[in-house]
Amino acid sequence: MARYVYEFADGGREMAGLLGGKGANLAEMTRLGLPVPPGFTVTTEACRAYLASGTVPDGLDDEVAEHLRALEERMGRRLGRPEDPLLVSVRSGGRFSMPGMMETVLDIGLNDASVLGLARMSGREHFAWDSYRRLIQMFGTTVMGVDGDLFGKALAHHPDPGELPLVVAEFKAVVREATGEDFPQDPADQLRRAIRAVFASWNGERARLYRRREHIPDDLGTAVTVQAMVYGNLGRDSGSGVAFTRDPATGRPGVYGDYLPDAQGEDVVAGVRNALPLQDLEWLDPTAYMELRDYMRILEEHYRDLCDIEFTIERRKLWMLQTRVGKRTAEAAFRVAAQLADDGTLTENEALGRVDGRQLAQLMFPRFDDTAAGPSLARGIPASPGAAVGAVVFDSAEAVRRAAAGEKAVLVRRETTPDDLPGMVAAQAVLTSRGGKTSHAAVVARGMGKTCVCGAEAITVDPRARHFTLADGTVVEEGTVVSVDGTAGTVHLGELPLAPSTVMRYFETGECRSELSRAVDRFMRRADALRRMEVRANADTPEDAERARRFGARGIGLCRTEHMFLGERRPLVEAMILAENDAERERALAALLPRQRSDFTGILAAMDGLPVTIRLLDPPLHEFLPDRTELAVRIATARALGQHPDPHDVRLLAAVERTHEQNPMLGLRGVRLGLTVPGLTAMQVRAIGEAVAERKRAGGDPRAEIMVPLTAAVRELRIVRAEVEQVLADVSSETGVDINCPIGTMIELPRAALTAGAIAGTADFFSFGTNDLTQTTWGFSRDDVEAAFFTTYLDRRIFAASPFESLDEDGVGRLLRLAVTEGRAAHPGLTTGVCGEHGGDPDSLHFFHRAGIDYVSCSPFRVPVARLEAGRAALADE
Ligand code: ADP
Ligand code: MG
Ligand code: MG
Repeated sequence: MARYVYEFADGGREMAGLLGGKGANLAEMTRLGLPVPPGFTVTTEACRAYLASGTVPDGLDDEVAEHLRALEERMGRRLGRPEDPLLVSVRSGGRFSMPGMMETVLDIGLNDASVLGLARMSGREHFAWDSYRRLIQMFGTTVMGVDGDLFGKALAHHPDPGELPLVVAEFKAVVREATGEDFPQDPADQLRRAIRAVFASWNGERARLYRRREHIPDDLGTAVTVQAMVYGNLGRDSGSGVAFTRDPATGRPGVYGDYLPDAQGEDVVAGVRNALPLQDLEWLDPTAYMELRDYMRILEEHYRDLCDIEFTIERRKLWMLQTRVGKRTAEAAFRVAAQLADDGTLTENEALGRVDGRQLAQLMFPRFDDTAAGPSLARGIPASPGAAVGAVVFDSAEAVRRAAAGEKAVLVRRETTPDDLPGMVAAQAVLTSRGGKTSHAAVVARGMGKTCVCGAEAITVDPRARHFTLADGTVVEEGTVVSVDGTAGTVHLGELPLAPSTVMRYFETGECRSELSRAVDRFMRRADALRRMEVRANADTPEDAERARRFGARGIGLCRTEHMFLGERRPLVEAMILAENDAERERALAALLPRQRSDFTGILAAMDGLPVTIRLLDPPLHEFLPDRTELAVRIATARALGQHPDPHDVRLLAAVERTHEQNPMLGLRGVRLGLTVPGLTAMQVRAIGEAVAERKRAGGDPRAEIMVPLTAAVRELRIVRAEVEQVLADVSSETGVDINCPIGTMIELPRAALTAGAIAGTADFFSFGTNDLTQTTWGFSRDDVEAAFFTTYLDRRIFAASPFESLDEDGVGRLLRLAVTEGRAAHPGLTTGVCGEHGGDPDSLHFFHRAGIDYVSCSPFRVPVARLEAGRAALADE
């Protein structure tokens, strides 16, 4: 028969999956000989069975009864026995810590008779009645579902401590009235029901939300720990507290924590009364204090990490009630890991395992000085970390105008679209009232390293009136200065003071003067030495290329050429699209050529000696033409006024209509453009070839690679490759410079992955465009689906994280693995990279490492994160 209950003495920290973190660590402390009130833990397996079937598994109640008997024997008391009752707590705790998210019931075992016994036994009547009213309150709300406010009101009727028996009577009446049932007097019944309620609290709303945010799986279940009560509320020589072995904000070793005399544990956390600093315990109870410091040292040495602790002192006797490896800020994570490596507690590799890319990303942004933050105006989703201050503006143009005038702006939109891009670039931060972590605003802001709070639903944005309104009706007009905290997801009125990021300075200049930047430097070096994957950057300008290089990128993995078709070059692109014969088209392309060439020359110079993967034009042509409605309105207005519409407008509209597509994502784009628009590929390749020649003649070491997007069939690539080789040969013989560019393709369609063996015969490299590959594998258009139904999909657990944020290993990942394996089999020297946004996502990076990918490419700001995570991924192979 399955075993569902473990005594503390039979467990240990390695059993957290079965006993929950709390149960496993209580067992561990028991093993270490620390004073832990005895008890036992019901496994998460029992919880899973309960959640699946609605009833506890066979034999569980008997097993619990047996362990309870052993506990009673040991304590020399019986659960709820009137003369000297044993009381227990029933505590929740899953595999991963979810502080305060599930239920705990204290003082189980009290009833109308045992409360008198407890009073006699302790010599404190008030204490006994207070414990009883706490039990009815906790049991009533968590087990019987009574509205907690009803107890609060009843308590207010009897402020005098002497009236506690009246409070208890009233609480019992509240329970009866709300549930039609009496508060259960049978201690065994109380215990049974409390265990079931803790199981059920796994699926409480709070717990579910928390798990979603922290990416904790929903199917783990909670363990239930039943433990003899100890009493911190027995007078001035008793109390409860929490402690950290180091400062969780900075990692500094020392005594950090709170202590509340004459109180039960939950009072400390709830902040019922103001707690004392833990140091005060040194003179309140020197013996207990020394003992606690001792245990803290033992625990830190044992766990080899920062620990947090719950303890209770009952009449000068110290009891340890909980410990876990403590949550900490990103800064503390780096500093603690470095300190523990310094003192030899951890090896360098172990220490590297203690920090991660998400923490590093946080440290790269300037932050608000926490001490100065007041109440916030609004709260949303912390989409892109950082701290930004600026005047609110409501459209892209205004943000651009203010930036040009040297002012700082915060762009506030309901949601953003690609049209908002210039404003997003110009603004200090982006705030939206709609959309989640994968909305346009969030994704683009993260890519740019721009602060962003999205989905602040309490604000109503009115771009026409140029203001937004808060839930309470307050109106915030354009020009009002706000502070946006992208780490906390909050917006504040006025300018909060900033603390600059020393970590960013370290990456920009190599300067490491603070302890924090020294710690970062140490782990970056370690990760660089360990990692197998190279890290490149996605960059389209020399400035981005230079920054990427400073941040440690070893080349460009994706240089998009479409940005080179915008701005003042648009008329030339229009001319190319409108061309009615070869001569016209050639003229337009010839005009574009020198401009493209100088773009490439600049980027190749910035990345001298390192690969620059240039992608041939990818987006559908209509993206370079004006908006259809706008043109139609302009023409119709002219006609209505009896004027001749501008003939250029008329031709443009015809072109727009000709190139209009129902599903542009699946239309004429990528390699299909190169195959259908004569001269386009030749012009781009010539610009690349000539740029390479120019750099070589100038003594440089240009390493251009030519990348063909959206290939589905090997024949597409063969045709384009032949053309590319021809043009490069022409440029070579014209310039007398030897030009040798690897030619490869993106793998971003399922068909490309499925026929990778054949394609690899014609490709020098594969670069996985995981954004499009995700869209085409799922049949999702990202722009359409994220806002429309991703929340539902997340709610209904169809996926745990958006597949655009974290690579879908089972589906998209399978295609990727297949393409890598079959591509390499057909072409042993094939280089493989990833240039989708997933290249900067920690979870996805670990997958790419396992799949044998040679390099990832991500936005310059993500490069350090990718370096660190690529190193951590390699730790698993050591
Ligand atoms: P959470 O997971 O929300 O922290 P806990 O199970 O730790 O919940 O319990 C809530 C509070 O009750 C804590 O402060 C804890 O120290 C206290 N507590 C739990 N069990 C006991 C016990 N057996 N004796 C005294 N206090 C207890
Ligand atoms: Mg706790
Ligand atoms: Mg693509």
